[in-house]
This record gives sequence, C-alpha cells and structure tokens, in this order.
Amino acid sequence: MPADRADPSADGSSGTAPAVLDVTGLDVRYGRGRRSHHALRGVSLSVAPGETLGVIGETGSGKSTLARAVLGLVRASAGSIVVDGEDVRTYGSRQWRALRRRGVLQYVFQDPLRSLDPDLTVGESLSEPLLVQGVPRKEAAERARVFLGRVRLAEELLDRLPGELSGGQRQRVAVARALVTEPRLVLLDEPVSALDSANRVQILEILKELRATGVALLLISHDLGSVAGTADRIAVLYRGELVESGPAREVVNHPRHPYTRLLVSSAPTLRADPVDRTEREALRARLGA
Ligand code: ADP
Ligand code: MG
Repeated sequence: MPADRADPSADGSSGTAPAVLDVTGLDVRYGRGRRSHHALRGVSLSVAPGETLGVIGETGSGKSTLARAVLGLVRASAGSIVVDGEDVRTYGSRQWRALRRRGVLQYVFQDPLRSLDPDLTVGESLSEPLLVQGVPRKEAAERARVFLGRVRLAEELLDRLPGELSGGQRQRVAVARALVTEPRLVLLDEPVSALDSANRVQILEILKELRATGVALLLISHDLGSVAGTADRIAVLYRGELVESGPAREVVNHPRHPYTRLLVSSAPTLRADPVDRTEREALRARLGA
C-alpha cells in the first residue's frame, strides 16, 4: 500500500524531485472575532513536478479557498505555502507580481470570462503573458498559435473576441493562456463544471495530454467523476479538512473515510461493486448529512 494512504496529508514527495507545491498546516479563516470561521484547518498537501492532484469536496468544503490561498488572494492565518521552492505565504504584492510575471504559477477558473479580458482577441490574450515576459512579438504570436492547437482550436479563432466564442471554446482559450508561459503549476478551480458533457470530456482529455509536457496540475472539482480519470492522486476535503488522499485508483476503489465512500457511492459508474442504497443511507447518517 502506498505510504501516503496512512497519512491524510497528500504528500506526493515520494519521488526524488522537489515538489512544485508544498502546503503544510494551512489554516484560513474568514471574518473577525466571534463571527470568524475556519474555511481550512491544518491542510497539508504537495504536488510533484508533472503530477496531477485532484482535490474534491462538496460545495463549501474550502476548495476555492485553497486555490485562492495558493494564489495569494486570501491570507492564511497559519501554515506554509511553498511554490517552486519559495515560501509565498508572507509575500507582499510586489513579490507576487514578480512571481506572476515569471509565469511559474497560472490558474483557470470555472468562468473563463473571469480569466479572459473581453476586449482582447484570442491571439492577444494568448500573447500577452509572453509579451509581459519580454518575448518578442513575432515569437509570442507563434507560441499563441501552437498553444491554440494544443487545446484543439482552429487558427481562425485567433482574431475572435471572448464574447464571440462558445463556453467550451472560451474555457479552452483560458487553458491555453494558462499554459503559454510553460508554468510549473496550474491551478484549475472547477474548470469543467459549467460545461456540457461533451466539452467536459474533451477538456479533461486535453488536461491529461498536457501532463506529458511536465506541467503539474491542481485540479479542483466537486465531482469525483470528473477528476477520477484525470488525476494521479486525489485529496478529499471535507468541511475544511483534508480527510483522505492517495493514488486515484486506490481512493476510488478503497475509500476509507465515510465521506469519500459517500462520494464514490454517488458516482456509481466509477466502481465495479457499487455501494447499495442502504449503505449510502448509513453513511449519510454517520456523517450527520
Ligand atoms: P468551495 O470552493 O469548496 O465551495 P469555498 O472555499 O468557496 O468552498 O468556501 C469555504 C467556506 O468559506 C464556506 O463556508 C464559505 O461560505 C466560506 N467563504 C468563502 N469565501 C468567503 C468570504 N469571502 N467571506 C466569508 N466566508 C467565505
Ligand atoms: Mg469553489
């Protein structure tokens, strides 16, 4: 049995290469004084180079908070967040700008309109992060074309505005934009949740292909089914705590925590031996859900 099953922290550092992302004992609270509440409590996980870590959990379990904390958009009250060897937890805005400019860390959100400028054409959106890095215009345009191909979009879309694309096309452009600087790590927060099933399948396939390029992915979803076939490892968040983690197949076939069992039983196509309804009710009762 892989070592990380024994420990609920999703420690992918069993290989020799240092982790691209190392989160230890992360606490995030919202609000102040008596009204404050923990969104994350003692969360530890790590992502190795080229690895895809799926983070699953129901709405409100703290998934987006985790992504926001790693991106420096919310402040952690305790713990450390090491991105590519640098502890970013106490970074100021200037250090964040420098890190973003280097293109080490990129992100894709559920709604691509949030990651794309509505006034820039697809070609401009894809070139912009490269121009910021000082890549010559011609080379940036060429790279934009290459990455559009990687997300299986036709070149003729380069001159379109985001508003002139379908939802699925827009999200693929957002993925291409996140990758064009060849980052070490991309955070994807519910990247396929707003899409129809055909687009969902295609984008998950594209993400799987991208692993060959060596980029590490943190793939967040409320839907175990979306992540199970794409991620190498899965970490399960439940009410702000990481309750289980391990190789994707292990977690799906031998879930340990009652909440994980409930998730697996709600996605019957994942398992050869679906949990029956009585067991599902019993699990719900145990969780008080
Ligand atoms: P998820 O992405 O898993 O749905 P979130 O990380 O968005 O969960 O939210 C985790 C918890 O933190 C929830 O209880 C949510 O209501 C709360 N929360 C999220 N954002 C804020 C905020 N800006 N202010 C206060 N509470 C928040
Ligand atoms: Mg969320």
